[in-house]
Amino acid sequence: MGTMTIDGRKVEFTDEKNVLTVIRNAGINIPTLCYHSEVSTFGACRLCTVEDDRGKTFASCSEQPRDGMVIYTNSGRIKKYRKLIVELLLAAHCRDCTTCVKSGECILQELAHRLGVRDIRFENTREQHEIDDSSPSIIRDPNKCILCGNCVRACEELQGIGALGFAFRGTEAMVMPAFNKKIAETQCVNCGQCRVYCPTGAISIRTHMDEVWDALADKDTRVVAQIAPAVRVAVGDHYGLTKGRSVMGKIVNALHRMGFDEVYDTTFSADLTIMEETKEFLNRVEKGENLPLLTSCCPAWVKFITDQYKEYVPNISTCRSPQGMMSAVIKEYFRDPEHAAGKKTVMVSIMPCTAKKAEAIRPNSFTDGEQDTDIVITTTELLRMIDNFGLDFATLDPEACDMPFGFGSGGGVIFGVTGGVTEAVLRRLSPDHSKEAMHEIAECGVRGEEGIKEFTVPYKGMDINVCVASGLANARTVMERVKNGEANYHLIEVMACRRGCIMGGGQPTRSGDRTKAARARGLYNADNTMIIKKSDENPLVLELYEGLLKGKEHHLLHNEFYI
Ligand code: SF4
Repeated sequence: MGTMTIDGRKVEFTDEKNVLTVIRNAGINIPTLCYHSEVSTFGACRLCTVEDDRGKTFASCSEQPRDGMVIYTNSGRIKKYRKLIVELLLAAHCRDCTTCVKSGECILQELAHRLGVRDIRFENTREQHEIDDSSPSIIRDPNKCILCGNCVRACEELQGIGALGFAFRGTEAMVMPAFNKKIAETQCVNCGQCRVYCPTGAISIRTHMDEVWDALADKDTRVVAQIAPAVRVAVGDHYGLTKGRSVMGKIVNALHRMGFDEVYDTTFSADLTIMEETKEFLNRVEKGENLPLLTSCCPAWVKFITDQYKEYVPNISTCRSPQGMMSAVIKEYFRDPEHAAGKKTVMVSIMPCTAKKAEAIRPNSFTDGEQDTDIVITTTELLRMIDNFGLDFATLDPEACDMPFGFGSGGGVIFGVTGGVTEAVLRRLSPDHSKEAMHEIAECGVRGEEGIKEFTVPYKGMDINVCVASGLANARTVMERVKNGEANYHLIEVMACRRGCIMGGGQPTRSGDRTKAARARGLYNADNTMIIKKSDENPLVLELYEGLLKGKEHHLLHNEFYI
């Protein structure tokens, strides 16, 4: 606790970890390219440099606040210094801003504009490097890398993977996978967190928008969309609407206007997942086999286990992910000539996730030799498509999803936030449907943004030990405890991205703590407004079991193997 003077104003601080945070809390958006509160401080870009009353300059991210400090954030000297840093970065940077995939959300581009950099006085002597497009999820362009190290720290510290690192020194320095391998040859899990933390176009989403436009233009094709829960709370922000508010109805309207024939809600298949996963869980508990059950909704987590904890592959739930279940069911539905009406079905899934692109092409995402999900686009690509089409999104009226796959329960909606899958399972296990029972489940320890949550719930005379983790570095801690016999769980839910899919690798970036909290709140609010909270009360799901799914549950909703 103390007071400092920032640009002539007294500012109090408490336990802020650095001067940069105090300055930002005081309402000054100090620029930085390499500072993120959730990864370690690197202090590489120096853009957050400030000056004190003795003329000493220092990077505010790396300095602890002290009582009595006097700071100038925008002195003439500091302004010149910042401008020079950006100019030097741009001198060594590929400057195809108008055609760059990151244009409009590139922080370097924004800073050049904000700091008034109008010309580059230095020659670019940097060697050009090959673009790595080996991954199904991301593209790595070393020519746009500014060596901030954000991707390296996100991959290492948040995900515990370490697929990227620094190589060489001085002007030769580069970020790359070890031994200059292609990213697809590493243990990269396709989560896209490197892309979230990258301030430029050095790591970007592998986009599939053109494939969607082509399908929409084809008159002989029925284009069907499914929208994942986390997408609806990450779109409104972009159009100046309330942060984190669900705009599902507007998204449905936008997709209909673009020409999608059917628009369905992935919360429907999240309900299917809960039906199947709960059954599988109880079966394993009864037999005492393959416990703890590891959830299978997140493809990055599944890849993490299959790459690094092979002995636990039998523990992964055989349930397909909600994306996989939805696509398999829809393809089956349109296999009926009456529903097909002579058209080919193209299944487009709209996800917060870059790893879903990899999941869609996994061999076990095919049914009877046909790929279930044809195209996966992320929330970020959806925004580009809406902008490209010229829709005035904020003024669109909400529309309902199409039937019969356009409705999910509250349990399906909360899949997008860490703990949501488990909470939906606990709702399913509860014989009590009352509001009080739902509230009690929500309070059992399953909610909250902690990276590892552990709790025990009673069920028919036994104690069920549950662990919910988000972020693969946390997942590794959990799996090591399980491996060493230090923990005895029955169920482990892991979402590879910290806080769950709301912070997925395909979501719009620039999301500070307020955005993260607002997205989680947005999903819980959406759940609050729903009359049906439990997956087993979704009448459309029950109808499906009695109809199309009869005798085909395992074939359409489960995987036989993991690779
Ligand atoms: Fe994708 Fe969600 Fe897993 Fe992140 S947590 S990799 S967004 S499924």
